[in-house]
Amino acid sequence: MKFYGFVSTLICCAFISIVPTLLFSQTRPAITAHDLRLRMNILASDSLQGRRTGEQGCEKAAKYIAAEFKKFGLTSLPMPAPPPDNSLEMLLPFPYFQNYQFSERQFDSTKKIKTRAVNIFGFLRGNDKKLRDEVVIIGAHYDHLGMGGMFALDTVKAIHYGADDNASGTVGLLELAEYYAKHRKSLKRSLLFIAFSGEEEGLFGSINYIKYPLVSLEKTQAMINMDMIGRLKDSVLIVEGMGSSPYWKLLMDSLKHNNLTMRYKPDGVGPSDHSPFYRKNIPVLFYFTGLHKDYHKATDTKDKINYEGEVQVLDLVRRSIDAIQSKPDRIPFTLVPEDTTKKAGVFKVYVGGVPDYGYDGEGLKISDITAGSPADKAGLKADDIVIQFADITIKNIYDYTGALGKFKPDDVVDFRVKRGKEVITVAVKLGKRSNAH
Ligand SMILES: [Zn+2]
Repeated sequence: MKFYGFVSTLICCAFISIVPTLLFSQTRPAITAHDLRLRMNILASDSLQGRRTGEQGCEKAAKYIAAEFKKFGLTSLPMPAPPPDNSLEMLLPFPYFQNYQFSERQFDSTKKIKTRAVNIFGFLRGNDKKLRDEVVIIGAHYDHLGMGGMFALDTVKAIHYGADDNASGTVGLLELAEYYAKHRKSLKRSLLFIAFSGEEEGLFGSINYIKYPLVSLEKTQAMINMDMIGRLKDSVLIVEGMGSSPYWKLLMDSLKHNNLTMRYKPDGVGPSDHSPFYRKNIPVLFYFTGLHKDYHKATDTKDKINYEGEVQVLDLVRRSIDAIQSKPDRIPFTLVPEDTTKKAGVFKVYVGGVPDYGYDGEGLKISDITAGSPADKAGLKADDIVIQFADITIKNIYDYTGALGKFKPDDVVDFRVKRGKEVITVAVKLGKRSNAH
């Protein structure tokens, strides 16, 4: 922004009538906080009702996203044959929509047998004769929790706006699509933008795509996922999937990070849409600005989005896409060693401390405490670092979730925590966990 102002004041007197638009397009930042805010005002508005998959608000969001793709000049690709048993009539017409359905019965026997849903596609063809048949997938889920329900972490029946989760990733997806549509001539490989639905109920949109891909998975160079990128805090950006290719480290080292502090995690499997791609041996990168106390609550609203921070995140995402789409050779895939891809243990207890995913020291750092939770009542505080849970040493988040699995609601457990220079013990009476994930 500063650079733009400087150049324009120097040159505009002489060239004002000749090239203002050219000058503007060359020096204007690709994506601005203003652009993000305008889109956020639509996606996290009352009228979209929390974008719950299968409900009207979600369908409205789908239509908005497809209309934007179309406006930018993105196309789509022929849909693969639908599954033979698919009796789903089209919810929304081709070419931008992929219809699918899933069952919510597995969670709740009172639920409808089928939920009908759509993924939305926007395609940009690359220009390099050798590389353009290969595709880089850029994804974000656009659905959220509607009025709350079983995946919410609060009990209020109110619009769950999901501004960070994941209107933030969706506005990023749209802005990147618009940017690359304008710069399509520079593309070597093709780009496929996908807005997924059904994520909150269990990654149903991305799993459906993997079953019926538009470009064969063998020709998919990489999958870049953005889920919750709107709450940049202390400039810490988390990038997961780093273990899915040896190239990722080289790439990240080669990018200027500006004032971002990068936190790398090897895991290819995580609670978002990159996981099904990783399981099909596709290198993945997952961009994430961390959990917070409004996660899966009605209070995840647009006024709490760090728009300037998201601009910085998207600038880095864009530069990583540039490198990936233009790389002369394929990005090699590697499996992440089992021990780092451990699934979070299944546990029934609730504490109410929000883990700090950006922390990479020893122990589990708490970034926030949910008001009224067992952690709050016991006197745990934000920035406490849990180093021991009952008699179990806690070195990282996996130790912690593993330890939670060994206890039941109403057990009273001693937390040993580092608070500043002190180490103290706090007894916490564990609560009961809802079904949220
Ligand atoms: Zn979510």
